Amino acid sequence: MITTIGKEYKFEAAHMLFGHKGACARLHGHSYKVKVELTGETLGGRDPLEKSSEGMVMDYGDLDNLVKHLIEQLDHKFLASNKDEIYFTPEGGSDTDENIRREEKAAGVVRLGFRVTAENLTAWFVKNLERRMPFNITGLVVIVKETEETFARVATAVNVKYSL
Ligand SMILES: [Zn+2]
Repeated sequence: MITTIGKEYKFEAAHMLFGHKGACARLHGHSYKVKVELTGETLGGRDPLEKSSEGMVMDYGDLDNLVKHLIEQLDHKFLASNKDEIYFTPEGGSDTDENIRREEKAAGVVRLGFRVTAENLTAWFVKNLERRMPFNITGLVVIVKETEETFARVATAVNVKYSL
């Protein structure tokens, strides 16, 4: 039976949208919520490796293993794009790129390759999760909420086999 399961994760992070015309240009934080939905056949349990997950689309513990290391990269961090100009004065050192990177890391700055909107964060989760989906999963949906009222959602097909 094709079934969809899902689990919600949370993390706290700061960001600022450089160049934004409104309040989002200022440094602020969110209690982000990330909902991951997987659609696929429930496992039959014929394979001994599947026995523990028989009747499941995916064991929630296995889903945790896929999602939590992504959450850990973002939790209690300052999420910035590669272009955002954030200045740290390296303590007792010079302004070399290496010193600046070290200061940023100590301050919890995470440089992501994109402007840190909910839309782009959602796509980041999808890109990092889709290639790790087991064979029975055919659909992946990620929803990222910055606030109670707003969300971004990306849905993609996974493990698609094309035949011509
Ligand atoms: Zn924001």
